[in-house]
Amino acid sequence: MKTKRLLLLRLAFLLLVVTPLAAWLLVKPVRVLAPALVGLSCDRGPVCTDDPQRWQAASDLYAEGMAFVSDSIAPLETAPRAVFCATQACADRFGLGARAAVTVGTWGIVLAPRAWQPHFIRHELIHVLQGQRLGVIRRLLMPTWFVEGMAYSLSEDPRAPLAAPWEAHRARFKAWLAGIARERFWVEAGQL
Ligand SMILES: [Zn+2]
Repeated sequence: MKTKRLLLLRLAFLLLVVTPLAAWLLVKPVRVLAPALVGLSCDRGPVCTDDPQRWQAASDLYAEGMAFVSDSIAPLETAPRAVFCATQACADRFGLGARAAVTVGTWGIVLAPRAWQPHFIRHELIHVLQGQRLGVIRRLLMPTWFVEGMAYSLSEDPRAPLAAPWEAHRARFKAWLAGIARERFWVEAGQL
């Protein structure tokens, strides 16, 4: 009985303390959940930035992205947090590395300085939408041509051609989209 309780306590400790701590330390993008802990003030709604002077610009980009995704694909169920890094130091704190942006589950997106452009914001918001509609774990297991091809295609990314392998993923997604009825989008996607 005592051993069982000890085991449960250990398990609880692992799940409630060690795992979140490890995620915090190892998977830096997860810091989007509590940007204040890395020195960002996030007291003005879902949009945060390390440069308060550029908060309005960030907020406008976010609003454009949310409206675009809602009008052209489907509305997001909840508004994710968006961290707009104005400096590379901020992007480094979120572990972006060479990436322009990253999506964390359905909770938030983090953008490096070069990602302050409409198609980058839309791209990440599309990943959030995929997580909301198809499930976060399911999204991770889906074919890359769908997950990334959809984000590059439907964000209207102006780059053409995209670097390999993204151009091929975009082309494959477009071909898939052309072959399905629009109202069956999520049903068909769920079967991939
Ligand atoms: Zn992507």
